[in-house]
Amino acid sequence: MIVILRPDATEEQLRHIVEKADKLGLTAHVSRGVERTIIGFIGPEDILRVTPLEVFPGVESVMPVLAPYKLVSREFQKEDSVVELKKGIEIGGKNLQIMAGPCSIEGYDSLLSVAKKVKAAGANILRGGAFKPRTSPYDFQGLGEEGLKYIKEVGAELEMATIAELIDPRDIELMDKYVDVYQIGARNMQNFALLKEVGATKKPVMLKRGMSATIKDLLMSAEYILSKGNFNVILCERGIRTFETATRNTLDINAVPVVKQLSHLPIVVDPSHGTGRWGLVGSIARAAVAAGCDGLMIEVHENPEEALSDGAQSLVPENFTALVKELRAVARAVGRELL
Ligand code: PEP
Ligand code: MN
Repeated sequence: MIVILRPDATEEQLRHIVEKADKLGLTAHVSRGVERTIIGFIGPEDILRVTPLEVFPGVESVMPVLAPYKLVSREFQKEDSVVELKKGIEIGGKNLQIMAGPCSIEGYDSLLSVAKKVKAAGANILRGGAFKPRTSPYDFQGLGEEGLKYIKEVGAELEMATIAELIDPRDIELMDKYVDVYQIGARNMQNFALLKEVGATKKPVMLKRGMSATIKDLLMSAEYILSKGNFNVILCERGIRTFETATRNTLDINAVPVVKQLSHLPIVVDPSHGTGRWGLVGSIARAAVAAGCDGLMIEVHENPEEALSDGAQSLVPENFTALVKELRAVARAVGRELL
């Protein structure tokens, strides 16, 4: 249920409604928009049906939220959410953001070297996995805490925000010390225990779409995080499994405008995992920007042949730099900026 307050509603009236909701056992989430303040009530709808919130002073109207996801829906918040990843680095506004770096953190020197190049090209966010969710238990599993130390140091030195994947709720505090954004990977999109844990923090979370998840499934998973109080969520389309075998995954470009219609949350596109082939990354990145995404996540490696994971889909820094230049033009053509 959504309560829309009158433009002249006072803080006192707002507090009164929230307190009443609390007594009824409902959770109130207040969203302060430019024009209106909206309160979303989460809890048994039957309580709300017998409690006429319309009569409370300051209330303009009461509406049911029809979508099964409530807090992530556009009905709950009309304006786009802007998520701050680190001081001065935001995602979801007019400016597009690029997250770039190796699939896995492989060492301090190699991370610093590639980070300098992606930063110079225009990426403000450094990516790199320290805990890798590999299909085979015999493949490189990541450097763990050592890798996290490297990404923190390099991020600080270059003033970049940092993102790394969290795969185990037991690592949440450890990762909190080292990175600015928790990445929830495709394989964990419906790991509800993990979603609840990151939801109980205030740290930004990037939630990647599961390989066989619908857009609705993705939004429901995001709802788990918001319902615990963390509204700093970014969605990521990274391709889904289809019958097509020419590419690693099938990037669902439709997801960008569909998510934009249904939700206020920012959406990032990952053309690296979406295609699995470096030669296709540029085309899909350009398409994603044209479709209206808020950012991109791109894997970059200085020596893809030697990469410990995902070399086949990693761009070399020179190609990444050339691509960002093209993306600037595409962004401008659709009314966005890529600084
Ligand atoms: C990654 O970003 O390296 C990764 C493992 O992504 P996904 O969860 O989308 O497969
Ligand atoms: Mn990868």
